[in-house]
Amino acid sequence: MTTLLELKDIRRSYPSGDGSVEVLKGITLSVNAGEMVAIVGASGSGKSTLMNILGCLDKPTSGTYRVEGVDIATLDGDALARLRRDHFGFIFQRYHLLPHLTAAQNVEVPAVYAGRGRQQRLARARELLGRLGLHERVDYRPSQLSGGQQQRVSIARALMNGGQVILADEPTGALDSASGEEVMAILHQLREQGHTVIVVTHDPEVAAQAERIVEIRDGELISNPPAKPAAAARVGAEKTLPASGWRQFSGGFREALTMAWRALAANKMRTLLTMLGIIIGIASVVSIVIVGDAAKQRVLADIRAMGTNTIDVYPGKDFGDDDPQYQQALKYDDLLAIQKQPWVSSATPAVSKNLRLRMNNTDVAASANGVGPQYFNVYGMTFSEGSTFNDVQLRGRAQVVVLDGNTRRQLFPHKASVVGEIILVGNMPATVVGVADEKQSMFGSSKILRVWLPYTTMAGRVIGQSWLNSITVRVKEGYDSTLAEQQLARLLNLRHGKKDIFTWNMDSILKTAERTTHTLQLFLTLVAVISLVVGGIGVMNIMLVSVTERTREIGIRMAVGARAADVLQQFLIEAVLVCLVGGALGVGLSLMIAFTLQLLLPGWEIGFSPLALLMAFVCSTLTGVLFGWLPARNAARLDPVDALARE
Ligand code: ADP
Ligand code: MG
Repeated sequence: MTTLLELKDIRRSYPSGDGSVEVLKGITLSVNAGEMVAIVGASGSGKSTLMNILGCLDKPTSGTYRVEGVDIATLDGDALARLRRDHFGFIFQRYHLLPHLTAAQNVEVPAVYAGRGRQQRLARARELLGRLGLHERVDYRPSQLSGGQQQRVSIARALMNGGQVILADEPTGALDSASGEEVMAILHQLREQGHTVIVVTHDPEVAAQAERIVEIRDGELISNPPAKPAAAARVGAEKTLPASGWRQFSGGFREALTMAWRALAANKMRTLLTMLGIIIGIASVVSIVIVGDAAKQRVLADIRAMGTNTIDVYPGKDFGDDDPQYQQALKYDDLLAIQKQPWVSSATPAVSKNLRLRMNNTDVAASANGVGPQYFNVYGMTFSEGSTFNDVQLRGRAQVVVLDGNTRRQLFPHKASVVGEIILVGNMPATVVGVADEKQSMFGSSKILRVWLPYTTMAGRVIGQSWLNSITVRVKEGYDSTLAEQQLARLLNLRHGKKDIFTWNMDSILKTAERTTHTLQLFLTLVAVISLVVGGIGVMNIMLVSVTERTREIGIRMAVGARAADVLQQFLIEAVLVCLVGGALGVGLSLMIAFTLQLLLPGWEIGFSPLALLMAFVCSTLTGVLFGWLPARNAARLDPVDALARE
């Protein structure tokens, strides 16, 4: 039968100054299963160092250490963590309980990392505490327990996963003599039940209770009686079904989540301040998404209202071209030809001239436009009085006129209703049939006075010209306006035999506006993302502080069997939790912003899209993972012995 623990020429040195000091100088020691061994020596002789090596918390600089015949030098970090978790139970001089957990929760910790079910864990923790006389204290926190009680909790914790080998480093060192005796009595009981117990002490009286006393001085064993034959009754690791990977993960996840929540709740003010950056970052990201969307919809709606499926045809090469040879290029025949095209829904010509308008003593200059009845509809204009002229009036060259708001104010400043009034347009008397309001567009409205007459009247009675200033073509719904524009140009070029007209389409403006708003939104999002990054850096900062503050906790968790991955997970979850809670508050804040904007800008359609919520969720999680990574990795990389030694 192999020896349970076997040390061969173990050396451990620490770097010191230029060289190194050797703390253990070639220790050779065997411990059989079921023994109770006391290691005695003066303070500083290397007992704790030896103990840490025995418990696989630390590795020797040289020499071999075998546990049940397995050389631990061949094991990786996770395998060592498993060994600590399932085979060893540590009892420390200063108990090393986690202060924010109750007695039962402290006892549970090793089982959490072993992936045991919650109910099973809790039941066993209570049973162990009960056995050690702490029935009534299971829900007490360490600060509410006496030293002796705390040490008993830590013994229960050592037994949680079986505790085949109990390693007690000065277990009575911090206790009064009565409590110390109690603890020693418990250790004796454990040995009788078959546990292997190794006690480190500087107290010869405590040591005397063991059946085998090993003495160490300055890193060397000066007395090493031979091991007793292995006891028949052995305690194995607590037999549990090997926990499934998923179960272990979900158990660890829940534990980490609870831990993270407790840590956050313990430091409310700090947590809130940390979250502030995330709250602001998420709120700006979400607000920009939803308000930006609303603004974009609004701009595009404005432009669409002006008619995106209309194409204007003008004579000449381009705007500003007043070459007289092109001036008369657009004829009535062109209008008729265009109206016959299958993709044309309507085509209205415009003939315009600056004329004088007269009414009683008022005499103003205005732009008179000959248009078709649908003109107002095409340009999204509304009538505040009366309405447009009809087709009959168009065909009959009726002497009717539509005023714009400015003209109405100039000519009839005090009249309540102007429909039916007669004014002089140039020299032609015309009856007012309506007042059209130009659409208030974001581009502003002009201040010139405008009146509209049927184009037949305008051409035949007012100015007597046979050519048109422009034609506005409305393309049928569903027909591509770019294609229509090309066909229109081709049709007229064919009719005229040369290119003497040009077209202009609102659609191109729409596309430009779409691009512009898109760019703007992208830019604003970038700014928001920067604020989110700043928030993330805040989280990282506070997490780094948290890792430093909780180094000892990390050390304890590692000593009872947490793997580096478990520690990493715990701190990552904490960072993500901060960011998610911050993100939720940020979404709330942006809701408030959106609501306020809605009140201030009634015309805006501010909707809370699922996309914005998804963005908030993804951004929060990503920020947490991204900025929690470094602190979590720092925590996971801690050396258990170093971490435990940290105060
Ligand atoms: P004991 O537990 O017997 O009192 P330790 O094993 O804790 O003694 O320490 C033995 C010696 O090793 C001491 O002189 C101590 O200063 C030194 N030592 C322990 N840990 C470290 C370390 N991390 N770095 C440097 N020296 C250390
Ligand atoms: Mg010590």
